[in-house]
This record gives sequence, C-alpha cells and structure tokens, in this order.
Amino acid sequence: MSPFYFKFQFRNVEYSSGRNKTLLCFRVDTAGGSTEPLKGYMEDEHATAHAEEAFFQQVLPNSSKEYDVTWYVSSSPCAACAVKLANILQQRKKLRLSIFCSRLFEWEEPEIVEGLKALVQAGCKLRMMKPIDFLHVWEIYVEQEGETFTPWEDCQENYEYYVERLTDILK
Ligand SMILES: [Zn+2]
Repeated sequence: MSPFYFKFQFRNVEYSSGRNKTLLCFRVDTAGGSTEPLKGYMEDEHATAHAEEAFFQQVLPNSSKEYDVTWYVSSSPCAACAVKLANILQQRKKLRLSIFCSRLFEWEEPEIVEGLKALVQAGCKLRMMKPIDFLHVWEIYVEQEGETFTPWEDCQENYEYYVERLTDILK
C-alpha cells in the first residue's frame, strides 16, 4: 500500500470520519517455523465479505494445520465479525489469532462489547497498536518510496485512550 493510504487508514484518531472500511495486514506463521511466514493485506472493498471473514475464505480456508495468525487492522471487528471469528477459533483449535487494532469500532455499542468479549474468551489476543506497531506495519506492508515514518504527534496519546476503552470492555 502507499504511504499516504497507510497514514490515512491507520491513523488512530478517536473519530474516524471517512474511514469506513477495514484494512487488514496479516502474517501467518506455520508451526515450527519451517516455512517463510505468509504476509499480505486485504480490505473490505476488494471482497464481498468483511476483511476479517474474507481472510478465512481466501487466505486460510479450512485446514486442520497449526497456525499462528497475526493481524494489524485499522479498526477492531464489527459485532458480526467478532462472533464469526469467535466461532472459527472454537472450531479450529490449532489456530491462534492475535489482533492488533489501530482504533476501536463503535466501542460504546453493547453488541460490540459482547462480541469482543466473546472473541477474547475464544482465545483471541486483542491489543491496541502502539507507536512501534505502526512502525512495524510501515516497514513490512508499505511501499516506502524512500520515505521514513514518524508516528503522528498524538499517536501514543490515542493509543492510551483506546487501551483504557479496551480494558473497560474486557473487564
Ligand atoms: Zn465486520
């Protein structure tokens, strides 16, 4: 993705006007680390399903193999996706999923709170992205074109804001 696109979609602002889709960067490690991890990204508009669901349809269709999946997402899952992901994790016991989110999506909605709780209960590691995680995504998934990345001024502050929200949701 381009530097501009990354900075627009991933910026961890509190109110994300104009950012109404999810950009999902993924990394899949197979058990034992015998093969190179699989890396890439996807977004809602390239798929009929939400990016989270599309990942399990396109990148990792049903398999009983052992996988460690890491996602960096611009926004946490919607209520429907959270439930779907929780079900997938309950069915595929050898799959481990860690999700690093830039922003929390509609975190005041009761269905979202229930969905995220169910997801964590199903074994998903749910975290907010720290400034260093944004740098990591920049290094791996962005065509940098010689540009260097400095996290925006309020990156740490926004991260702390969202960590508090997430802690409240999960307690
Ligand atoms: Zn969704």
